[in-house]
Amino acid sequence: MNFISTRGNVSKIGFIDTVLMGLANDGGLLVPEKIPQIPAEKLEAMSKLTYQELAYEIFSYYVDGEIPEDELKALIEKSYETFRHPEVTPIKKLKDNMYVLELFHGPTFAFKDIALQFLGNLYSYVSKKTGESVHILGATSGDTGASAIEGVKGKEGIRICILHPHDKVSKVQELQMTTVDDKSVLNLAIKGTFDDGQRIIKELFSDIEFKNKYHLRAINSINFVRIMAQTVYYFYAYFQLKKEMDLKNINFSVPTGNFGDIFAGYLAKKMGLPVGKLIVATNENNILEGFIRDGVYEPGEFRSTFSPSMDIQVASNFERYLYYLLGENPNEVSALMEKFKAEGKIVINDEQLLQVNEDFAAHGVEGEECLQTISTYYAETSYLLDPHTACGVAAYERFNQPNEVCVTLATAHPAKFNESIERCNIEQKFPEKISQLFNKPQHLEVVEADKDEIVRNLEKLFSFSSK
Ligand SMILES: *Cc1c(COP(=O)(O)O)cnc(C)c1O
Repeated sequence: MNFISTRGNVSKIGFIDTVLMGLANDGGLLVPEKIPQIPAEKLEAMSKLTYQELAYEIFSYYVDGEIPEDELKALIEKSYETFRHPEVTPIKKLKDNMYVLELFHGPTFAFKDIALQFLGNLYSYVSKKTGESVHILGATSGDTGASAIEGVKGKEGIRICILHPHDKVSKVQELQMTTVDDKSVLNLAIKGTFDDGQRIIKELFSDIEFKNKYHLRAINSINFVRIMAQTVYYFYAYFQLKKEMDLKNINFSVPTGNFGDIFAGYLAKKMGLPVGKLIVATNENNILEGFIRDGVYEPGEFRSTFSPSMDIQVASNFERYLYYLLGENPNEVSALMEKFKAEGKIVINDEQLLQVNEDFAAHGVEGEECLQTISTYYAETSYLLDPHTACGVAAYERFNQPNEVCVTLATAHPAKFNESIERCNIEQKFPEKISQLFNKPQHLEVVEADKDEIVRNLEKLFSFSSK
């Protein structure tokens, strides 16, 4: 399996090099040269597998022999044995034809664990094979940071620096990241937004000399492994429901920020999973809604909302989708991204917009609607939605037809976002692992959202002697 850049200026590379490159060296994103196609008979056979077995089958298409079978299986086992549920991502019925896929049973109670437990183990595996250190640099809107730190802390040869927007993450998110007492972990709270953090890390990853000198590695969804690992639960959800009912296809409603999770759904569909509509659920940072409705993608003013993990204006993975929308033509993608850089917006034509509307529906959920959805579902079904999942459910309510089956991705546990749950006058009991966080000392540096200041901190982290 070869991987190429959406902008066409990286020579073909294999799976491991794709993991290590993270952001493509030409500033684009890496995608498989050809998306693997899973025939119907194979899908049928896959429908009986456990989560881990299914992950192995799907990963194998992309890993394509670069990791021996027994080693890949061991990596997968290790990655999912940290989950609290035997099914890893169980599905729950809330109403007729309406389900949630619980993606929050991993160590940090958000869906990011599904890919980052695996990516952490994979980095450790590669580092042991090559003897090279792994220096991770990531930006987070709150959940990726905790999850990535949890995925790599204490692993030999790995150091990690996470930028999070100061005072713009939930208390539990902040505690999860900053209470890890480990010299190889650095938390930088930047005075800015997630978009500032993402822009700075993309600039640093684009500086190939700097990236190579420090062995900089990515854990954000610019890394294709994130996408690959997240396709598994779309398949798994479909197979679980198919056991219960006669199912042609299903819709998914996906709480969306950086367009990574929903892009994984799009990829699953392209691989052959019978997906109907993918519903993009955002909060008031609703650039993607504008794109899907009018064909204009134009980031605007940042808004702080009840669902902080989706407080994102510039959605990195959107470029991967553009690549397919533009007929896998890297020249056109490059031209459009250049134009985006110069003019701050992307406009597509009517024919392309028709295609977009075949693939997606979208709804930007306002704060009140989000809280109302939490309250209503709690009253009617006793199920407590976290505010991100609530956006997904609100978007589902808007678009789904009564005869169609829809699965909303439950991307986080409500205990992570008690600030929003309290506003609904609901009292929740925290899982033990979360209540324990409140007594621990925090480790973080507050810094300007300034590239040079970040670099100074990184150089300190990368050069300390671990002895
Ligand atoms: C990261 C995150 C999202 C958004 O996922 P993307 O892949 O960035 O679109 C939604 N909900 C929660 C809880 C998250 O942590």
